[in-house]
Amino acid sequence: MSDNHKKVIIIGSGPAGFTAAIYAARANLNPFVFEGNQPGGQLTITTEVENYPGFEHGIMGPELMDVMRKQAKRFGAEFEYKYIDKVDLSSRPFKLISGKETYTADAVIVATGASAKLLGIPSEQEYMGFGVSACATCDGFFFKEQEVIVVGGGDSAMEEANYLTKFASKVTIVHRREGFRASQIMLDRAKKNPKIEFRLNEVVEEILGKPARQSWAEGAGGNENGRKMVTGVRLRNVKTNNITEMKIDGIFMAIGHKPNTEIFKGILDMEESGYLKVKTGSTYTNIDGIFAAGDVADKTYRQAVTAAGMGCMAAIDAERWLEAQAM
Ligand code: NAP
Repeated sequence: MSDNHKKVIIIGSGPAGFTAAIYAARANLNPFVFEGNQPGGQLTITTEVENYPGFEHGIMGPELMDVMRKQAKRFGAEFEYKYIDKVDLSSRPFKLISGKETYTADAVIVATGASAKLLGIPSEQEYMGFGVSACATCDGFFFKEQEVIVVGGGDSAMEEANYLTKFASKVTIVHRREGFRASQIMLDRAKKNPKIEFRLNEVVEEILGKPARQSWAEGAGGNENGRKMVTGVRLRNVKTNNITEMKIDGIFMAIGHKPNTEIFKGILDMEESGYLKVKTGSTYTNIDGIFAAGDVADKTYRQAVTAAGMGCMAAIDAERWLEAQAM
């Protein structure tokens, strides 16, 4: 077998991929991890993670991922900052292609995650982690007694808005039309919440902010690293084209998630929304030897700790499957 043949290849470097790497490495499977375009995954675009068990005082998202990577490395996992852009899973060993290189593997763990859909305006990237977030569970706590908006009209937007009222003094749901994709029950719950207001037929044109140091000096929170903090948004009414500015401290995107499954279309069984299907209670996909873990196969929980749990399951599934094949 060539140097490019690996026993176990893990595609993806979030909590699922790294946990799979830790377990697979400890099982002497010499896992090889393709880290992809966003090494560390979604947690690298959040700030502090306070709900990952084991860190009493929280840990910064990028640091948590760095620690996990080091832990896997300690047991012999190897890492490559490459993106797999094509796969051929029609025969064994499976073929994974990255640019001009082809790698082969006896077993593959797909942990490519999901990406929060974003609006696509430049200011959104500029303030990501500094007032802009796509995860209320991760970042809601930082908006105690502050005013925030949630963009979207689906169940996620309603759920995130309700959740945020635990912390924020006021939550405004900004939705681009009058009809909602959200289920009636979730919508009613949001409507009944006295801290939630709605702005309909409006879209975010621009996110406004100022340097954190200035915000800090004024006692408006923020940190002293010179980054900017959100202070407001510019909204456009889609019916009248009227532009208004709204003073807010944070903006939560809840316009859906997209599992990163493009390269598996037509190859692995997936739901219409793109989430990979796994056999109940396991990480087995429809192809023997291909396992899926984390957000790529979980549209329900989408938490770092649940992804890590699934990564562990995938490594154990792969180990037992390889053993059964006498590989
Ligand atoms: P979703 O149902 O696809 O809703 C996305 C919302 O964002 C829609 O209202 C959409 O507006 C809006 N949107 C999309 N792109 C936008 C853009 N560029 N600018 C402004 N608004 C935009 O996504 P989701 O809310 O994340 O839910 C995904 C799935 O998970 C659903 O099946 C949902 O039921 C489920 N879920 C369930 C629960 C629960 O039961 N507890 C909680 C969360 C999610 P339009 O309506 O105009 O397209």
